[in-house]
Amino acid sequence: MSLIQELAGKDVLNMTMLALSLSGYVNGVAKKHGEISQNLFPGFEIHAITNGVHTFTWASPYFVNLFDDYLPGWAHEPELLVRVDNIPDEEIWDAHCGAKAYLFQYIEETTGTKLDPDILTIGFARRSATYKRGDLIFSDLERLVRIGGGKLQLVFAGKAHPNDEPGKLMIQRIIKKTAQIKGKVEVVYLENYNMEVAYRLVPGVDLWLNNPIRPLEASGTSGMKAALNGVPNFSVLDGWWIEGHIEGITGWSIGPPATETSLDDNHAAEDLADLYNKLEKVIIPLYYADRTGWIRVMKNAIGKNAYYFNTHVMMRRYVTEAYIR
Ligand SMILES: *Cc1c(COP(=O)(O)O)cnc(C)c1O
Repeated sequence: MSLIQELAGKDVLNMTMLALSLSGYVNGVAKKHGEISQNLFPGFEIHAITNGVHTFTWASPYFVNLFDDYLPGWAHEPELLVRVDNIPDEEIWDAHCGAKAYLFQYIEETTGTKLDPDILTIGFARRSATYKRGDLIFSDLERLVRIGGGKLQLVFAGKAHPNDEPGKLMIQRIIKKTAQIKGKVEVVYLENYNMEVAYRLVPGVDLWLNNPIRPLEASGTSGMKAALNGVPNFSVLDGWWIEGHIEGITGWSIGPPATETSLDDNHAAEDLADLYNKLEKVIIPLYYADRTGWIRVMKNAIGKNAYYFNTHVMMRRYVTEAYIR
């Protein structure tokens, strides 16, 4: 056997195996991702260092000002966000409303649609890859309208890879279904999703939805951007959310807990039922009938998620666990 075969596989050149063979340290980008990768490549020792987002880059101007006032130094030391309870509820809410208005203005300019700032607004934006199931919430339009009529509006964004035909078809399905519920549950799909759009979109919605087929979401960093801006996650237990989720405290889960490790673990029906049920029975009532309770979850997203899931913590871990050993 040649050297390259020993390093990269006997029959075909496996680039992953080549990288694994030539690396002094290997890690997944969330605990679960590490475990799944370890199962795929049992011959290598695979660790896990969970991804993070850069706090100053991803905090909206409204929250930058707020954090500067109450938690000076937070940008260099995001752990200070753990003291978010020092910020009065009204000021958290005002900052959020500012970010929401800033997004809605952009939506009106680019699409002509005027959304209602008083309505619970769900955000979903990421690459349009089929495993992320962007169209899941539209599976039962009757139920969506029954639950969300007058109470919900949705903001979507995301491009498919140019060669990903199923991903493009998923966007077409969403647009088509959106037209069918026009005037009942308002949905906008923003074009050309990129970091600039994300900068406005993520902090400007009330709830961040993520419903991939587990365990395919390696990390899911957009949820960390949301948490940083007091936008709670409503997500399948996969990637970073397994580590960041405390039910009803930092946000909400969708579907069963993350115990399975098989690669075709599609619980679509179970996930969908849980998604609709929790929206109807837990999330919508909390938003409209208990604003103080809602703001508590917003604060916990900042104080229990964002204080930890950031690049400062992540880089320290890379330095101490991977680079200097
Ligand atoms: C953060 C971000 C992503 C990643 O989103 P995930 O939910 O982690 O897949 C993708 N695209 C843009 C433009 C982003 O800002």
